[in-house]
Amino acid sequence: MVRTRFAPSPTGFLHIGGARTALFSWAYARKHRGEFVLRIEDTDLERHTEDAVAAIYDGMRWLGLHWDEGPYRQMERLPRYRAVAEQLIAGGRAYLCYASKDELDAMRDAQRARGEKPRYDGRWRPENARGRTPPAGVTPVVRFRNPDEGVVGWHDLVKGPIEIANRELDDLVLLRADGVPTYNFGVVVDDLDMAITHVIRGDDHVNNTPRQINIYEALGVPVPKFGHVPMILGADGEKLSKRHGAVSVTQYDEDGFLPEALVNYLARLGWSHGDDEVFAVEQFVEWFDLGHISRSPAQFNPEKALWLNQQYIKKADPQRLAALVAPRIERAGGDLARGPELAVATALLRERASTLNELADAARALFYSDAAPAPELLRAQLTAEARPALGALLERFAGVEPWSEEGIQSAFEGVLKAHGLKMPKLAMPLRAVVFGTTQTPALYPTLAAAGKARVLERIRRHAG
Ligand code: GLU
Repeated sequence: MVRTRFAPSPTGFLHIGGARTALFSWAYARKHRGEFVLRIEDTDLERHTEDAVAAIYDGMRWLGLHWDEGPYRQMERLPRYRAVAEQLIAGGRAYLCYASKDELDAMRDAQRARGEKPRYDGRWRPENARGRTPPAGVTPVVRFRNPDEGVVGWHDLVKGPIEIANRELDDLVLLRADGVPTYNFGVVVDDLDMAITHVIRGDDHVNNTPRQINIYEALGVPVPKFGHVPMILGADGEKLSKRHGAVSVTQYDEDGFLPEALVNYLARLGWSHGDDEVFAVEQFVEWFDLGHISRSPAQFNPEKALWLNQQYIKKADPQRLAALVAPRIERAGGDLARGPELAVATALLRERASTLNELADAARALFYSDAAPAPELLRAQLTAEARPALGALLERFAGVEPWSEEGIQSAFEGVLKAHGLKMPKLAMPLRAVVFGTTQTPALYPTLAAAGKARVLERIRRHAG
């Protein structure tokens, strides 16, 4: 069975890059009816925070990336790493190294001075340390005995064949003196224990993969398949950072994105299916394969993300939109009791909004706020021609019963005729007075939604 995992280090939020990696791993498991594991790589005690752990869970839940197993926490598995390290020592594939930091620094300085690449020189390999007594009071680290000869390679599911000579790799630390595993060791033990079949991760880890493969081989266990996903660059070609909007995915929630729109956007970051742009996550899962991931970096384009969000808002159920925008309207001081049922407003406005925040602002301004229209707007719209027509409209509107689109339309057209006006000559001033803007969705349904009492009151108050 296919088993994939997402293994974030909780040193910050779940940002766009991490979320895209998570999405690809998740989709791969879903597509193959496999399982998706979440593992928190929390061994960097200085940089990791519990807030970041919580933010990762929140981000994944918001995106709908549900995990089947976990979250596992590396710090809860220390005895297991110790046991595997001891197994490697017993088999002659790892050894204790007592070199101090100062000693290692001096060793590297000397290598650099000789024009060599700095690397661990194997001084505590058993054959080199024979007869030497370990220094007192030093807790050793465990080092992997990397093979000296040969090459290590794999067929990357994204990048194709990759190979590196073992002489390029040195004896890496597996367990630190405090018993915490290094990334390369923890990840191998975990991927092994969690029966991960496909490791899908960012290509910043390509250099680690040969080291990990050597550890698998030293353990005599099968090596999983690897797929390294190219990184994401900002539109300016620089590595994606906060400046490019590479913020926490939950920031996108705050900014008014629908999660499915962001998922669709993330799916298109470095992966494509012909020219298809807008597709549901189920469709994505069906289409997804690692072979169609681009080998070059993806570019992050915030306008494209907004455009996609708009496509999803347009099609979203007005009731759902209402539930999502209600708190946003209230937070901005809107009063939902003042206007129509919110789903009526979202149905009218969803065509025009590229974010939920825009939708909330538009709904609040049209229906749920009592702010007076700007004086300049009234001055411009309440012309000598418009005023008497609005007065007549007020009278006709008062008689419209029930307050329906048809009733509104016939009252409105009656006034146009009686005053010899063209539609915009009355529609614009009316919009200004009732809604405080000349930009609204179709006039009659918008007036119908606003409600008779509000329309009459606003005309009386602002055009009287
Ligand atoms: N904790 C690593 C990271 O966040 C995970 C790398 C991996 O997936 O192996 O980069």
